[in-house]
Amino acid sequence: MTAETTVPTVSSAPKKTRKRILTGDRPTGRLHLGHYVGTLENRVKLQEAYDTFLLVADYHMLTTRLDHLDEIGRNVRDVVLDNLSVGIDPEKVTIYLQSLVPQTAELHLYFSMLVSVSRAQRIPTLKEQMRDAHITQPSYGLLGYPVLQAADILCVKGDLVPVGRDQESHIELTREIARRFNELFGPVFPVPDALIPSDTLLPGTDGNTKAGKSLGNAIDLADDSETVRRKVMGMYTDPARIRATDPGKVEGNPVFAYLESFDPEKAEVEDLKERYRGGRVGDVEVKKRLVTVLERFLAPIRERRARFERDPKLLDEIIRSGSDRARAEAQQTLHDVRRAMKLDYFGL
Ligand code: ATP
Ligand code: MG
Repeated sequence: MTAETTVPTVSSAPKKTRKRILTGDRPTGRLHLGHYVGTLENRVKLQEAYDTFLLVADYHMLTTRLDHLDEIGRNVRDVVLDNLSVGIDPEKVTIYLQSLVPQTAELHLYFSMLVSVSRAQRIPTLKEQMRDAHITQPSYGLLGYPVLQAADILCVKGDLVPVGRDQESHIELTREIARRFNELFGPVFPVPDALIPSDTLLPGTDGNTKAGKSLGNAIDLADDSETVRRKVMGMYTDPARIRATDPGKVEGNPVFAYLESFDPEKAEVEDLKERYRGGRVGDVEVKKRLVTVLERFLAPIRERRARFERDPKLLDEIIRSGSDRARAEAQQTLHDVRRAMKLDYFGL
């Protein structure tokens, strides 16, 4: 769609015909090339075949970021802009803000009764979250964050959830909750499947095995040309290589990992690797090629971003109308849930 197009407001829940995908991001900051490789590229492809719901998970920020809440509004817009800039089409995808669908919190409450404390404590990512956020005692809310994720997915009756391998355990919990609910109260929920799209981890510019937002070693989708050039020219390569005529190591060298992911000329990349291994090409030449490749890759992304940045009202409208649609779905789900649980004694 173009920035000039207006987004229609959908107020009633449309009939579900295609399989539904629930995907999303926490609004923690700008997305980077690692996100593109790990999730966004696939997300853009999936929007063609599936009814995609894209959640901006601001409630989840409360589990670890209580001291950074003032950044969330900005981050919500950035994360939506990042998604639109890589080609997510708001006419195909329902982009919505979690806190504008408060039915999620109600469903989370019901689900929290179906999960034992010891089961929640066994989620392997909890320790990681605590370590990353420097938390020694998890709050009651943090312990329940995979239960909140189950509420996100099942609120819109998602069938498929694309996640990294690290999140597979959360989808397993969602499946348990859906089955348990259906057993206890009747068939309300689909039992969703995890979709593991890619195991490729894009390394950091510093040679770390993973580029990460909080590691300061990533190239952001929103970086300008000069920043990209600076980051690439300063990239870690093969520390043992002193002269261009020394044989170089391609494995573990992030410049080559980036070329593999972003350079469409596969044969030329193979040739460059051979020459690098044989000491027949310098680091500077390889990096200059990467700068060119990334500029070409980022040009249409920057163009789309600029279009949406010029029209902040449109961005707000996309989030608002997507949230209206997601809320309509969630209202229907909660209606089914209360009826199944016999909580509809006042006809609510
Ligand atoms: P932080 O440093 O704050 O943890 P992050 O950059 O790791 O941020 P997350 O929000 O933790 O970003 O990542 C969300 C998802 O994005 C991950 O589950 C993974 O699928 C994907 N992802 C993030 N970084 C990379 C990367 N370097 N390579 C491939 N996929 C990535
Ligand atoms: Mg991370």
